[in-house]
Amino acid sequence: MMQQYLAVKAAHPDCLLFYRMGDFYELFFDDAKQAADALDIALTKRGQHEGQEIPMCGVPAHSHEGYLHKLIQRGFRVAICEQLEDPAEAKKRGYKSVVKRDVVRIITPGTLMEDSLLEAKLPNHLAALSVAKEKGERTTALAWVDISTGRFGLCRVLAGQLGAELARIQPAELLLDQNLFEDADLVPHLADMRHQLVAEPPHWFTPVKGEQMLKAAYNVALLDSFGALTQAELGACGALLEYLMQTQKGLLPRLMRPERQEANDHLVMDAATRRNLELLASMSGQKKGGLLATIDRSQTALGARLMAWCLINPLTDATRINARLDAVEYLTAELTLRENLREHLKRCPDVERILARICSRRASPRDLGQLRDALTAAEAVRQLLEQHQETLPSLLKAQAKGLIADPTLRDELVKALVESPPLQTADGGFIADGYLPALDSLRRIRDDSRTLIKELETRYATATGVSSLKIRHNNILGWYVEVTVMHAAKMGKESGVDFIHRQTMAGTQRFTTVELAELETQITQAAEKTLAAELEVLARLLEMAQLQAEPLSQLAQAIAVTDVCAALAELATEKHYCRPRVDDGLAFAIKGGRHPVVEAALPRGQFVANDACLEKTSKLWLLTGPNMAGKSTFLRQNALIAILAQMGSFVPAESAHIGVVDRLFSRVGAADDLARGRSTFMVEMVETATILHHATPKSLVILDEIGRGTATYDGMSIAWAALEHLHNECRSRGLFATHYHELTMLTATLPNLAAHQMSVKEWKGDIVFLHAVVPGAADHSYGVHVARLAGLPKPVTDRASAILAQLEGSGMEQTLTKLAGDMPLFMHSHVETPKPRPSLVEVEPQEPDALRDLLATIDPDNLSPREAQDALYRLKALLQPARLKAVDQVA
Ligand code: ATP
Repeated sequence: MMQQYLAVKAAHPDCLLFYRMGDFYELFFDDAKQAADALDIALTKRGQHEGQEIPMCGVPAHSHEGYLHKLIQRGFRVAICEQLEDPAEAKKRGYKSVVKRDVVRIITPGTLMEDSLLEAKLPNHLAALSVAKEKGERTTALAWVDISTGRFGLCRVLAGQLGAELARIQPAELLLDQNLFEDADLVPHLADMRHQLVAEPPHWFTPVKGEQMLKAAYNVALLDSFGALTQAELGACGALLEYLMQTQKGLLPRLMRPERQEANDHLVMDAATRRNLELLASMSGQKKGGLLATIDRSQTALGARLMAWCLINPLTDATRINARLDAVEYLTAELTLRENLREHLKRCPDVERILARICSRRASPRDLGQLRDALTAAEAVRQLLEQHQETLPSLLKAQAKGLIADPTLRDELVKALVESPPLQTADGGFIADGYLPALDSLRRIRDDSRTLIKELETRYATATGVSSLKIRHNNILGWYVEVTVMHAAKMGKESGVDFIHRQTMAGTQRFTTVELAELETQITQAAEKTLAAELEVLARLLEMAQLQAEPLSQLAQAIAVTDVCAALAELATEKHYCRPRVDDGLAFAIKGGRHPVVEAALPRGQFVANDACLEKTSKLWLLTGPNMAGKSTFLRQNALIAILAQMGSFVPAESAHIGVVDRLFSRVGAADDLARGRSTFMVEMVETATILHHATPKSLVILDEIGRGTATYDGMSIAWAALEHLHNECRSRGLFATHYHELTMLTATLPNLAAHQMSVKEWKGDIVFLHAVVPGAADHSYGVHVARLAGLPKPVTDRASAILAQLEGSGMEQTLTKLAGDMPLFMHSHVETPKPRPSLVEVEPQEPDALRDLLATIDPDNLSPREAQDALYRLKALLQPARLKAVDQVA
């Protein structure tokens, strides 16, 4: 067996091998150590290999999915090695034969199919990135599949948009040609994908391979019907399909035809924008604080996934957006229809994932039971829609058509299955009584035999006078008679029954009789035949369902769309959202806009609605105001309103007119990205650079606090220049929040810039936030007030107030000079500045020079470790006498 294990393992060196042994999956050697550690389970041993004990751990087969889930989350790949024959078959070949085993599937994060391993409400994408040279130009393409639903997408990636596309598709794994891992054009865009990247050989990504794989997968001779695929697109498809063949061991899952997306048919948002706007989850990673959780009223997992996808992919085609809005509006008006639809949708299981399991031959009886329920619910939804056929908007009309299914499958499932079929097939019991006469009669024999066992037990108890005598069953002995040791003497010939002793246990003895053995054969055969008959019916039903894959897939899509429309209508009614006017112009006029997530978190009626009209002479708004006044909330709410409108949802506002936004950029705060070697300021500048390079007049730009991570004048200068660039070059619609009140001077020179502020009231020395946006510029930041509210010690806030008064009274430069006295400068960021500037810290001048002299003599490339250590000690010793004096003492 170990030889077999080692051979299988050698073929899958990068996976943990789950090696099936009876009711367990066992892991050996290093795999066992890693898994025991990751799963926190006991590490044991089994036998020896080359004189060493073999480490081992195992997980029960019936509950292995929970363990798989943990391992996949920790980044492991798992190869499932199954027994491919009945152990009885192996025994027949000879005493020492090993049961045939092989890997049936490799489980990786991008190839999950089991409900327990997947997020029900989110897609799970496996993607491939491919680069090709076409007509002398480099082209890049992405292909992605969700094998749990069969969806297959494809797009060309425009220059500079790779990061945004990956942020949109969010692959659980991204396949990349191993030779491109250092590619200078790709590397900057792959930084967020470090953990998802999978290196594969270059020949997987060739267009020829792609063509072959696609033709084989869809069983076609020509690819014309797929559209004119580019070389890069073919390459990406080829790699995807090859990876699926490898991991699924040749059994390709059911895939829909690749749906090609154009690079400009959805609103482009880069990873930072998506994160900042907290679309799927809050900044801290909680789903609860994200927009999706706030707006999602879907009743089905199908609808929930489509809702998430629509939110990640807002449209840019006004006609398509308005078609969705028509459907949502219709369902807001038709309250009874909406309620009835939602009632039936609630009972509709996840057809898409069930279908994927059926086509991959991994479906359980429970899946078929759920398919039956889904078909019943879908028919009810179809009838409801049909009753309104005359007035339905086009999108809903189309869904009603998609819900038409051949009733034969549903009728058969209704007749054949029990109410709640089990997950496992092993114990039978999923086919209903009365469906198949032959099965019914087998069941009668099986059940009668059980009654016969009971009768035999009573007869033996009477014959021996042992009332506690029991006839029991286990897998080793089969059926046996059991009495306690105390009564063993009564099991002799005098009882009139010929008991044959089988086993002595601690407190009991076990016997059999010829009669019992005969009965056992009868029972086993009846049970085996019953199960075989049930399995036969199951196989037939699964085949029927598989033949209906295409219409079932359309039905799933129709359920999802209907659910999303009804859910958005429900949301609009519940939260008083309005239908936005969406067209191809450049309007952005929001009246009474609200932030959907902040509003939901506040007590009813407390959120202060605000207008935003980014038009004509006020395309760009410069927003000033105190901390905590609501600037970030206001900025984000407008971005979210645009996203909601373009996904086809009503929006949290009194009215909204939005000219389709092509790209949305949002820079809201920034955090260090130390793992990628970037400081807060660097992150901020990289994000700002992306915006200034790519924003167009159709874009919407939300900038909160540019230039805060550096010295005041540096920051202000950057913010100033960025604002000018946005106004003059990008000419985008935008909202720009800042604490640099000096920037409001720009309204005099930039004709399309308008100053607005968050209004506050000062009351008895404190401030009250009104959260209202009004025209004009703030003259105070009230930072010290907010610091007091936050509980900073009183001496600190008093001192801060005093310093602030001086700074405001006498001009910043003079005050800093005054604060720092006449001390010389030590400011490493300004070493080349010839003119000394005031400093907050002073160092005695001779020490840096001595340090520098010594440093100059050191040549790191020619030092032994020992010499390097000595040099370090000498440098440290030089530093000892240096004294730093704090500002306040100096002042
Ligand atoms: P900072 O400059 O410190 O980042 P800010 O001006 O951006 O502050 P926000 O973070 O937007 O302020 O808002 C602070 C809090 O004020 C929010 O958490 C929210 O509770 C409340 N708030 C913001 N806007 C509104 C509003 N329009 N109506 C009611 N409450 C609001």
